[in-house]
Amino acid sequence: MVKWLCEVCNIYVYDEEKGDPLTGISPNTEVSDFPDSWRCPVCGATKNRLVRISEEEYWQKARAYTDFNEKKEQVRSILVGADNPQTQPELRQEYGVPLGLRGIGQGLTYLNNLKALSKYRLKKRLITEHEEPVIETAFLGKRISMPVLGAPMSGLSYVSNIIEEDFAYNILEGCKVAGTIGFTGNTSRDYEVVHPAIVALKKVNGDGVNIFKPQSQDVLLDLISQSEKEEAVAVGIDIDGAGSVNFTLAGKPVFRKTIDEIKELKSSTRLPFIVKGIMCEEDALASVEAGADVIGISNHGGRVLDSGPGVADVLQRIVKAVRETEKGKEVVITADGGVRTGFDVVKMLALGADFVLVGRPLAREAISTGVEGVKRILEYIKTDVRIAMIMTSCNSLKDIDEKILVKGQF
Ligand code: FE
Repeated sequence: MVKWLCEVCNIYVYDEEKGDPLTGISPNTEVSDFPDSWRCPVCGATKNRLVRISEEEYWQKARAYTDFNEKKEQVRSILVGADNPQTQPELRQEYGVPLGLRGIGQGLTYLNNLKALSKYRLKKRLITEHEEPVIETAFLGKRISMPVLGAPMSGLSYVSNIIEEDFAYNILEGCKVAGTIGFTGNTSRDYEVVHPAIVALKKVNGDGVNIFKPQSQDVLLDLISQSEKEEAVAVGIDIDGAGSVNFTLAGKPVFRKTIDEIKELKSSTRLPFIVKGIMCEEDALASVEAGADVIGISNHGGRVLDSGPGVADVLQRIVKAVRETEKGKEVVITADGGVRTGFDVVKMLALGADFVLVGRPLAREAISTGVEGVKRILEYIKTDVRIAMIMTSCNSLKDIDEKILVKGQF
């Protein structure tokens, strides 16, 4: 019989033969015969988000779904006291499993992010003096628990039953309670008065970063000034939103930007300014010239251009080009793309990133288990960063460099 997986949460599975009593589906019901009102019990996605999977994949995923169901209620109560995530291994089932939504086109860029990271392995080195690694750091002057930030994401309201404002809040608040900082994305949806990302930012007292799509200068200047009023940690644009189909369809045109246009945005605000979506030396150097305080090396999780390289493939040479310039020595560099665990975080740091953004693993929690889930995944990541540092003889974040990497064709 045919088996299905929810491509949004990557957790819910459906077997046509068995049906699904939990959501009122009788045995031998095809997905096309589900009522239109049906929603994924994990994430709220609609039935058209179920994708066919093989028997083998079904049995792999079924275990995670069963565990998810059994633990769901338990999780909420246990989490309150889960100070040390290592003592809660049974809760780790879905850690490392990304949100199911893949990349644009054939998904080659999405896959290249994973392949690029897997070309690097960590060099285990243990005969050195033991010290507890220091993971805490500061991002733009704010103390944070680890060099990991919540990536800007939006549009999840198109594929699940969460509203944009709640999604943004769950990311920001989840990051905040985990001791770090989350970013918000820029939805193409219409909104009443205030942009949902700014409403969410206000709810967390400005402890977040707003990233906007590269719309017209007027629209951006207005949004930036609103973020500034809420005292955001920083504000910026994801310049690789320039090809966004959703924005075009919604009648909100998006554009590439010139150095002068970025300068105008940067000089309009006293907040630190971020240019995210950089995948080549030319754009990195142009962003530095425009005065960006932070540049984000990112291919947007493979969601905006197919057939691009993985972030870990280009990171080292972009960092090198930036650091060779006088202004580029001070610029903060973030990286994201394919990061699932704390071990991936350490690899990105070793390739030269100052901070690493995590997206899909947090998105899945933001739409299913909310703030607590976002916090829990970040705690797992922190636990693994610590383990990786101990096992590679890194006592501080500064010690994490290419010497701890082994490169090869694995
Ligand atoms: Fe789902």
